[in-house]
Amino acid sequence: MVREQLVDGGLTDRRVLQAMEEVPRHLFVPKLLQHRAHQPSALPIGHGQTISKPFTVGLMTSLLELQGHEHVLEVGTGSGYQAAILAKLARTVVSVERISPLAERSRVTLAKLGVENINVLAHDGGVGAPDYAPFDAIMVTACAPSLPAHLVSQLKDGGHLLIPISKGREQILYRYRRQGQEVSIEQSVSCRFVPLLSGVTAEGEKRA
Ligand code: SAH
Repeated sequence: MVREQLVDGGLTDRRVLQAMEEVPRHLFVPKLLQHRAHQPSALPIGHGQTISKPFTVGLMTSLLELQGHEHVLEVGTGSGYQAAILAKLARTVVSVERISPLAERSRVTLAKLGVENINVLAHDGGVGAPDYAPFDAIMVTACAPSLPAHLVSQLKDGGHLLIPISKGREQILYRYRRQGQEVSIEQSVSCRFVPLLSGVTAEGEKRA
């Protein structure tokens, strides 16, 4: 999987490749689909959600450029696979999932693997995780209609925020960097994610 999908796909960050070699992806997918865990595709994990394809996980992780000391927020825990990769490359990970049974299942999987530096929270990640902020880096693994203000405010100065945003029929994965009160776009690539279903607007207000 790592050689054929990630290296041949152009990913070069050795730490990311090693983390993806070490985390057993099949343990994060339903038993009936475990034989397909290493195929180059997203797979259903129940509740209408999916585990992202390996290349997407590798690409997003590479774009965060983690050094090992970071406190990271992920929005969209899903299976917990991406969080487990982040946990290998950062100091601590807080991951938020709006579907409680998925959050609970990911906690069980991560505990079985002995991963101790991830805290999975079950709520609408549109508000981020204020009790655990600020973060050195933030990754959103579901496609948002716009950049959520709460997430920007919970990012440390100089930190990266990675988020897919829908533009008409297209989805673009943006890497933002915060500088003071400003955020600037550093990179963008076309992508495909499930939607971020949040009751919070881009301005940080709750929807009626
Ligand atoms: N990172 C996951 C895959 C993400 S699928 C993995 O490695 O398996 C996207 C996830 O985002 C889904 O589980 C979906 O329920 C969740 N999600 C969507 N909107 C959300 C929100 N507002 N807050 C938190 N999680 C959300």
